[in-house]
Amino acid sequence: MIVKAIPNDPKTARAARAMLGMVNQQLKVSPFIAGKIWMVESSMSGKLHEYMVCRGDQGEWSCTCPDFQKRGHQTPCKHILAVRLLVEQRV
Ligand SMILES: [Zn+2]
Repeated sequence: MIVKAIPNDPKTARAARAMLGMVNQQLKVSPFIAGKIWMVESSMSGKLHEYMVCRGDQGEWSCTCPDFQKRGHQTPCKHILAVRLLVEQRV
């Protein structure tokens, strides 16, 4: 998939940035427990961080990154979006 421009809609824009991040190898997703937990390695701004993205039994998503903790559970962070793109092929 080729992302040509960042859309104006903030939700779509975040998804597009997550996609771009994966393309640029800034986010590396590896399955930890099949269909449930993924490890996401983020190498933004030269520092390597590792977060865990989980999918609950009701299909709810959570992430261990500070961004997700701060924003609460309504807004998925880029790690969740990256995993969702990978497993569902959609956002
Ligand atoms: Zn996150």
